[in-house]
Amino acid sequence: MKEYDYLVIGGGSGGIASANRAGMHGAKVLLIEGNELGGTCVNVGCVPKKVMWQASSMLEMIHRDAASYGIQSSVENFNFTELVEKREAYIAFLHGAYQRGLDSNNVEVVKGYAAFKDTHTVEVNGELYTAPKILLATGGKPSKMSIPGGELALDSNGFFQLKEQPKKVVMLGAGYIAAELSGVMHGMGTEVHWAYRKERPLRTFDKMLTDNLVEMYQESGMHLYANSVAKELVKEEDGQTTVYFETGEKITADYVFFAGGRIPNTSKLGLENTEVKVDEKGFIQVDKFQNTSAEGIYAIGDVIGKIDLTPVAIAAGRRLSERLFNGKTEEHLDYNLIPTVVFTHPPIATIGLTEEEAINEHGQEKIKVYRSRFTPMYFALNDYRQKCEMKLICLGEEEKIIGLHGIGIGVDEMLQGFAVAIKMGATKQDFDNTVAIHPTGAEEFVTMR
Ligand code: FAD
Ligand code: NDP
Repeated sequence: MKEYDYLVIGGGSGGIASANRAGMHGAKVLLIEGNELGGTCVNVGCVPKKVMWQASSMLEMIHRDAASYGIQSSVENFNFTELVEKREAYIAFLHGAYQRGLDSNNVEVVKGYAAFKDTHTVEVNGELYTAPKILLATGGKPSKMSIPGGELALDSNGFFQLKEQPKKVVMLGAGYIAAELSGVMHGMGTEVHWAYRKERPLRTFDKMLTDNLVEMYQESGMHLYANSVAKELVKEEDGQTTVYFETGEKITADYVFFAGGRIPNTSKLGLENTEVKVDEKGFIQVDKFQNTSAEGIYAIGDVIGKIDLTPVAIAAGRRLSERLFNGKTEEHLDYNLIPTVVFTHPPIATIGLTEEEAINEHGQEKIKVYRSRFTPMYFALNDYRQKCEMKLICLGEEEKIIGLHGIGIGVDEMLQGFAVAIKMGATKQDFDNTVAIHPTGAEEFVTMR
């Protein structure tokens, strides 16, 4: 049996961050990863998605916007296959970079899937490893469609396996992934039909954001279907897939995608050999210090089903290692006011409460909302005048900012700095006291009346 100070199960965003930080503080660490280093984010998430989003955005600029600046351009050949090859080469480079980072912190890596034998022992490829402290950072995977023919739908992993650009697709689902991949494919010229089962997509986001997104996607020619529940998928003889909806509508396309949330990687972990408690969906239950119900076992990231974002997994992992291996006994992640961006076309940026949540939580009389809707200067010369819309949600007499939301070109890069201010407790007055930067879109956030 090999002994360590810290076993980290899962070499994704959270696991690598925590292992490195523990190694920096001198702990003897073993990282166990069943697949490629980097986990979801690097291999089938943020990284390949952002590459595709950037390519799609460039194509959109060339087709839609270049001529308005007097640039007569045409795309002679968009080579999807070449883009995918370059993207994968970049990911292979990142694998090496992660390995070098782990080496520099003396973190050992073993490749294989881990399962608990008992609270302090795990088995990987028939070998036993033990440590007084074990981290579960095993992430999640796409959920499956539970309708007849549901197995015919591709998930986001399937999207990243495509070597050729589909001509026509149906997207089912209503969250980040459905919104992003629909936009990516549409921007590349694929005919996209996006169907969601309720009245609007991204329902947990401020309504202003999703109303604008729906309007902009429709204006750009994407086909959107609200209140559309899929009831069956059928494979056609020519290889295409048809989706039948409860509304009676049917659409046939090269691929049908399903992006309806994710499930945790906990079923094969041998958790029954420990005291670790999971909820009814299999997500690991933790307290604010990431302690599970088993002494010495911790969990972070997507496997706890709280906020599935890479920087959240990283921040929780690093703070945990500071607590466990650097004597910072109170260190933990505050899960409030986490900024997030949805890489749609244009992007959505959001932090804090939606208007509806703020009113429900504090009462209408305590909430003041500032809004701005304008055409970014980027579109000044264009017949197509895509809007940018922004909103500040303020609380009480001091007008403390408890929510900031925006959709429009550039908001993805605006949010981080505003998030710092809001996390520090900024008020509307603080925003007003900050001189604007002109001409930018961001200046609207500090000049709202
Ligand atoms: P993961 O990164 O999923 O890592 C878990 C690792 O554990 C995996 O490598 C897995 O192979 C391994 N593993 C599982 N079981 C075992 C076992 N028994 N033994 C050993 N190893 C095991 N977040 C953002 O912040 N920004 C984005 O733009 C963004 N885009 C996304 C796009 C897509 C399409 C998807 C699917 C996700 C995206 N996310 C994004 C979310 C982000 O990828 C996740 O929140 C993040 O990867 C979670 O990190 P993690 O460490 O919890 O898990
Ligand atoms: P989400 O949790 O974002 O959204 C899934 C939505 O799909 C549900 O809210 C639901 O919405 C709808 N849905 C659920 N089941 C079904 C069904 N059977 N049929 C049709 N629709 C269904 O999940 P995603 O898979 O999109 O993404 C997972 C997570 O990954 C995200 O929550 C996010 O944290 C992370 N991520 C982050 C990104 C970023 O930071 N930019 C990008 C991509 C992912 P409704 O009830 O309204 O129908």
